[in-house]
Amino acid sequence: MRVEIIAVGTELLLGEIANTDAQDVSAGLAELGFSTLYHTVVGDNPDRLRSVLACALERADILITTGGLGPTYDDLTKEICAEAFGLPLELHQPSLDRIVARFAAMERPMTPNNEKQAWLPRGCTVFPNDWGTAPGCAIERGGKYLLMLPGPPRECRPMFRHCAMPYLAALSGSAIHSDWIRLFGIGESAMEDRLRPLMESSVNPSLAPYAKEGECLVRVTSRAASDAEAAAQNAPYVRAVCDLLSDFVYGVNVSSLEQVAVARLRETGRTLACAESCTGGLLAKRITDVPGASAVFLGSAVTYANSAKTRLLGVSPDTLAAHGAVSAETASEMAAGARSLYGSDYALATTGIAGPASDNTAKPVGLVYIALATPDGVTVREHHFTGDRARIRHAAASNALDMLRRALI
Ligand code: ATP
Repeated sequence: MRVEIIAVGTELLLGEIANTDAQDVSAGLAELGFSTLYHTVVGDNPDRLRSVLACALERADILITTGGLGPTYDDLTKEICAEAFGLPLELHQPSLDRIVARFAAMERPMTPNNEKQAWLPRGCTVFPNDWGTAPGCAIERGGKYLLMLPGPPRECRPMFRHCAMPYLAALSGSAIHSDWIRLFGIGESAMEDRLRPLMESSVNPSLAPYAKEGECLVRVTSRAASDAEAAAQNAPYVRAVCDLLSDFVYGVNVSSLEQVAVARLRETGRTLACAESCTGGLLAKRITDVPGASAVFLGSAVTYANSAKTRLLGVSPDTLAAHGAVSAETASEMAAGARSLYGSDYALATTGIAGPASDNTAKPVGLVYIALATPDGVTVREHHFTGDRARIRHAAASNALDMLRRALI
């Protein structure tokens, strides 16, 4: 079935916000095996929304709108969509009860215009909004489906996952199961090169490689009569991909390098500390993003100035004078210093040139040293990253986490 996503909102056209709802919905549709053919954005204008719907009904079987379900005068999505399907709006009492209860729970007076949100197209499938006020809904006519979701991403995303995806899965009449294999340290083209024969020989499951934020992913998706059957169909292919790319795979159905690094530390009962120069706390931020990190992470010293490296971590002034702050020797002393400062089993240190280039940087932008101190000694690696400041810092933190993860295997 062909899908078109229609985002409604003038603020999108003005560039005030990015259309992340379409991104979230598209990602979910890909998981379900639906083909999204168009992303359309239209302002809060009834005539233009009418013409967008007319065009979408010509070229797609399923239309998904985001936004314009709220209480204000410019929230017109539901009215125009119901009109396009020839359906009147009716008060849906359970939705009104939920909205009244929500205002009562927030101890805020409910203005009369909020009732508008409980008026829904006759005969629709209601998507209750557990994350906000405006319910979503789905309508059908002559084999065409139209699903309406609220605009705020914190409402759109969960409503799509919890209500719209099961509705759409039922339409497709089969179960879809996806597994994600996450890789670090290999480029997209090298990954594709190794996977190509397997990708070309397999239709169900299908194998889809992606590159994202310096990492690679392979999605393996099967369609079958039940989720268990689809998962079983995936299993040998997931193993085959892991075997083909074993040096680089850091997890299957995991969310990030930091999640895996923290899990490994917990499993092995080891603790970690950091000493950060060029990553400026990014490493600590990513580690503490993981729930449960407090069991293994002791802290990070952000030692930007040479004086801080010496005073807090005990980096020798002679080392700094002889080799500079961005050197293997300094990185090594930073890691050893953090390990003894915090009393941790492991310590990671980063020092490098994140850029942009300036007259007083003799060393090249992107040069980063990452050191790992363990009970058996210190290892240092030299990296040459490319990209802007944010990219170089992100790459430094990712490589540090990968170095730790590998040491813990
Ligand atoms: P509300 O009840 O908050 O009015 P709504 O369903 O009417 O919700 P809109 O009024 O269209 O939604 O949008 C509310 C806010 O949600 C916008 O100001 C914007 O911050 C965010 N938003 C809307 N559409 C999108 C989108 N496609 N992608 C990302 N954010 C969006």
